[in-house]
Amino acid sequence: MNITRRFLSTNSNLKKLAVIGSGPSSFYTILQILKKQPNNFQIDIFEKNPSPFGLVRYGVAPDHPEVKNCIDKFNEISEFIKTGKVKYFGNVEICKDLSLNDLYKNYNGILYAYGSSNGNKVEFPGSLHQNIINSFDFVNWYNGNHNYKNVIKSLKGIKDISIIGAGNVAIDIIRILLGDVNKRWKSTDISNHALNILKESDVKNVNVIIRRGILDSKFTNKELRELLEMRDEGVEFKGWNKEDFDEQLKSLGKLDRVNKRRIDLLNKYKENGNGNGNKGWKLNYLRSPIGIMVKPDGNIKELLVKVSKMVHNEENDKWEYKSDGKIESIPSDLVILATGYKCEPLNEFKEIGILFENGKIINNNGKIENIKNSYCVGWVSNNSQGNINNTVNDSMNVAETIINDEDLINDENKEGRKEIEIILKNKKHKIVKWEDWEKIHSIEIDQGNKDGKPYNKLSFNEMLELVK
Ligand SMILES: Cc1cc2nc3c(=O)[nH]c(=O)nc-3n(C[C@H](O)[C@H](O)[C@H](O)COP(=O)(O)OP(=O)(O)OC[C@H]3O[C@@H](n4cnc5c(N)ncnc54)[C@H](O)[C@@H]3O)c2cc1C
Repeated sequence: MNITRRFLSTNSNLKKLAVIGSGPSSFYTILQILKKQPNNFQIDIFEKNPSPFGLVRYGVAPDHPEVKNCIDKFNEISEFIKTGKVKYFGNVEICKDLSLNDLYKNYNGILYAYGSSNGNKVEFPGSLHQNIINSFDFVNWYNGNHNYKNVIKSLKGIKDISIIGAGNVAIDIIRILLGDVNKRWKSTDISNHALNILKESDVKNVNVIIRRGILDSKFTNKELRELLEMRDEGVEFKGWNKEDFDEQLKSLGKLDRVNKRRIDLLNKYKENGNGNGNKGWKLNYLRSPIGIMVKPDGNIKELLVKVSKMVHNEENDKWEYKSDGKIESIPSDLVILATGYKCEPLNEFKEIGILFENGKIINNNGKIENIKNSYCVGWVSNNSQGNINNTVNDSMNVAETIINDEDLINDENKEGRKEIEIILKNKKHKIVKWEDWEKIHSIEIDQGNKDGKPYNKLSFNEMLELVK
């Protein structure tokens, strides 16, 4: 080891990096930095929830346990936690429990990895009705975030549901609503409150309402196929408005592989599928919500949608959406808005000069423009786009950006976690350490196993009560 490397390896000469958020993008970036430069960094993770893993815990559907296997990789952080290279500050929300100023004062660099905080809104007359809920709330409800326990109190008497938007989240929600509780959900990490309500659910029909056409579909063919195959569980695909696109599809000639596969799948299951189920779902393209009809008791009866059609513009040889002038009503006891998740700026951004536009922090390969030693990764850097695999690639690039940034130097005046712990102690703020989280999760596993589930998620209060 040469003199320079030995110098860098001493504790006081580490680059101190604060990371906001503990979702996939945070873990993948940190692990990559430490893989490439095990001796140059000291990294502190700040997570507003007591528990880590972001949307892997509170987003990914319970019947996709294989997707959550990435947590095994994230748990490699334990080794770095033991040696003090990484520290986890759970239950610490940045811009609430600590300010960005606190971080900039005490760290050499800040990595923003705080993901999305809400669902996109869809506004139309009646959209604030209590039986119109956002997918963000619904997903948190079934995924055991107890703050959302009351989003659905019962699905008894709820027969028809409309979902607005057709991405993979909408598909997850259809599986939740129509899947066989015993076969699909009982042995998963779904919340017990959702499980009990789904057991008594009367939901029979789900109508997916999609503003644009089949070629603009957002869901992936893998998720679509899984849903179509649920006919074996008695969940019927009731079709799509194929006729509206016949002319367009003919005129386009050869479609790309993904769209061709998608259309083949839909046609195959529309024509041969149908199973013998008494539950079903349908894709309604070229429909936008414009209002609701309400029953005398105040509950929703129908969703009103405006119909469009595809029209060929001879001048530019493009297919365009034009209003048809027609309005349809779709029976709906409940409406779920599923047009994507959204990231928001932290409330100190203006003050410190971080630019946030179109749902993301303005950045160049993860380096935040305008302000030194600041980086972003994952959904907050790309407007909530993509899946965990995309996040892996993004994290690898951002780790390189951080490692190679010549502006990011060790400034010994920065005290890092030493000073941060004093600030939080003075505020009598409860920190959930990594060891605390491990203890919490082992209790979740014990409780879940008694119910034949991998684990039962505790509420935030229950978690905090377990922390001394
Ligand atoms: C419903 C749903 C289902 C999905 N299913 C799949 C799937 O099956 N397969 C797949 O590959 N991808 C799936 N995805 C996509 C995947 O979840 C994302 O690609 C990934 O989670 C993005 O990671 P992230 O680290 O950017 O954000 P997140 O996972 O959102 O993590 C951000 C973290 O930051 C924390 N945080 C926020 N604000 C603060 C603050 N002020 N201070 C401290 N901490 C803060 C949050 O609590 C959270 O833990 C799904 C997404 C959703 C919404």
